[in-house]
Amino acid sequence: MKPVIFLAALLLSATVFAQRPPLQTIRANSGAIQVQPITHATFVITYNNKTFYIDPTGGAAAFTGLAKPDVILVTDIHGDHNDPKTIDEIKTANTIVVAPKAVAEKLPGVEQSKLVVLNNGEKTDQAGATINAIPMYNLPEDAESRHTKGRGNGYVINFGGKNFYISGDTEDIPEMRQLKNIDVAFVCMNLPYTMDINQAASAVLEFKPKIVYPYHYRGQGGLSDVNGFKKLVNEKDKSIDVRLLNWYP
Ligand code: ZN
Repeated sequence: MKPVIFLAALLLSATVFAQRPPLQTIRANSGAIQVQPITHATFVITYNNKTFYIDPTGGAAAFTGLAKPDVILVTDIHGDHNDPKTIDEIKTANTIVVAPKAVAEKLPGVEQSKLVVLNNGEKTDQAGATINAIPMYNLPEDAESRHTKGRGNGYVINFGGKNFYISGDTEDIPEMRQLKNIDVAFVCMNLPYTMDINQAASAVLEFKPKIVYPYHYRGQGGLSDVNGFKKLVNEKDKSIDVRLLNWYP
């Protein structure tokens, strides 16, 4: 590559990286778990040289410079979670896609042998991680709601002894409040799609994750008050580490 072109490429990639929230590192029993937030509901987790993409959106460009996915997890059918075009762009011949049935049916580009259909209450081991699908839905439970119970998945994933909870689009459902031993939680909070910061804080205070990242917090009225969420949580429990990042750079 010519030096000038190389420099231009370097500057371009530096610009792309600069727009991402900072890389997060969480220590596991052996080695470290790294989390690269991308935007809104989209992020990348790396552990033991395996890479997991959560709700990938934004096309291949959104993942420039990151390892290709060994596993892609999708939570629900909506475009901010399931983006078949992005999945087709980023997957390799070996990438496994884990998704609930309603999503799996909307992924014609993914070979059946690479698709793991996981519904609420089911689990699978992939790339060294144990993935549990748990419910995500709106309250009251209603056939007309934006997120009906049973369609989408939240996930609890165990990486090297650490439990990561990914809420998906949900309200403060009993299944969230009853979670145990969560080390790192990604919790949504945006109206009218999921829940407000009071519901999110109340649930978090009940299941007490060690670390919580508000994510998926852009709603119809703009960004939710994540500083207010942090205050609500820490006023009642200082031991919960609320980590605020700009997921909308
Ligand atoms: Zn969503």
